[in-house]
Amino acid sequence: MTLQILDGKKLALDLKEKLRAEVASLKEKTGKVPSMVNIMIGEDHGASAYSNSQKKAAEAIGIQYELKTLPTQISQEELIEFIALLNNDADVNGVMLHKPVPAHIDHPKAIDHLDPSKDVEGMNVSNIGKMVVADTSIIPCTPAAVMEHLKTVPVSLKGKEAVIVGRSDIVGKPLIMLLLKENATVTVCHSGTSAAGKLVEHLGRADVVVAAMGKAHFIKGEWIKPGAIVIDVGINQLGDKMVGDVEFETAKERAAYITPVPGGVGPVTVVMLMKNCIEAFKSSMKI
Ligand code: NAP
Repeated sequence: MTLQILDGKKLALDLKEKLRAEVASLKEKTGKVPSMVNIMIGEDHGASAYSNSQKKAAEAIGIQYELKTLPTQISQEELIEFIALLNNDADVNGVMLHKPVPAHIDHPKAIDHLDPSKDVEGMNVSNIGKMVVADTSIIPCTPAAVMEHLKTVPVSLKGKEAVIVGRSDIVGKPLIMLLLKENATVTVCHSGTSAAGKLVEHLGRADVVVAAMGKAHFIKGEWIKPGAIVIDVGINQLGDKMVGDVEFETAKERAAYITPVPGGVGPVTVVMLMKNCIEAFKSSMKI
């Protein structure tokens, strides 16, 4: 069995090129380009680095991107008023509220005040609900990046055992719906699964593993079923290195396809944000 490393940087470049062409054709049709605003509360080094990568991706694709930094002491009410201004601004197609936010800000409640059609992270309850009951074009960015990687693998997911490790609102839970839509048989593991000593058993029959737990090298290579597809969402600092949730060196001895960390899911996630902005623009223009 030959191993294939799923190269997120290359996939991100290919996707950006497609989106760039789409934006160019939308501009020709409408005279406008999609635009988005990233609201950041206070200064945060990690958040600024992520915002810079968003800005670069937006520029490469032709999307107008603006970072609005609000003061750390802004109240929840003032933030909601600011979001209302963006909701009513026809020149803004997409809005996101950067994490982390200060402790006095309730991120999910603030996002629920965002016009669902401008929610480019796909995180307000209306968009999450739509994922469950209907087809929607706005899909949370990291789960969407996982699915883009899976699309590059020449294996149908129909009837495959897919095991997600992690059930966060932002990664694990949306993936349940996305993998079900592809007709995979989905199992979701969490801390309770590990506490019951069942994680290794579930992973042992997984044709597809999506690791999203945030624990460095927690999933050992010997737990991976030979020939499995392994998508590692985890981003963890281990000494001076960034590593995933899967022990890459041992897992690649058994997997058929595996994403590295860094350079796997991460680079594609930011492109999915841009894709959502384009979808928001198209829906605002009734295209
Ligand atoms: P999170 O909200 O902390 O959720 C972690 C999940 O892992 C929880 O559901 C937790 O279970 C589960 N978990 C923790 N320890 C476990 C164990 N021993 N056995 C089984 N399950 C366990 O994390 P998140 O926001 O989803 O992020 C997960 C990872 O992905 C992080 O490393 C994060 O940095 C990374 N991430 C990457 C991207 C990207 O673009 N590449 C984007 C977002 C996040 P319980 O629910 O029982 O507590």
